Amino acid sequence: MSEDTPHRRLLIDCERLHCRWPVDGSGADLVVCGDLIRDGSPYCPTHHIRAYAPPPWRTVSVGGVVRRVDGAPVN
Ligand SMILES: [Zn+2]
Repeated sequence: MSEDTPHRRLLIDCERLHCRWPVDGSGADLVVCGDLIRDGSPYCPTHHIRAYAPPPWRTVSVGGVVRRVDGAPVN
């Protein structure tokens, strides 16, 4: 997974104002986005949208069963 994250840094080097979106590694070597966060979010504006945007599909309730509009079951 490669992303355009020019401010990336280790999670342990982050301060409160840095985006915590994981981009590489794990555990103590976890690398995060590191861009400046958006007010009221743990993420920068780009990753805030990714984290909180609705899924790209809609759901419908058919006979009490919630399904995706494309027909796949919702877990
Ligand atoms: Zn970010």
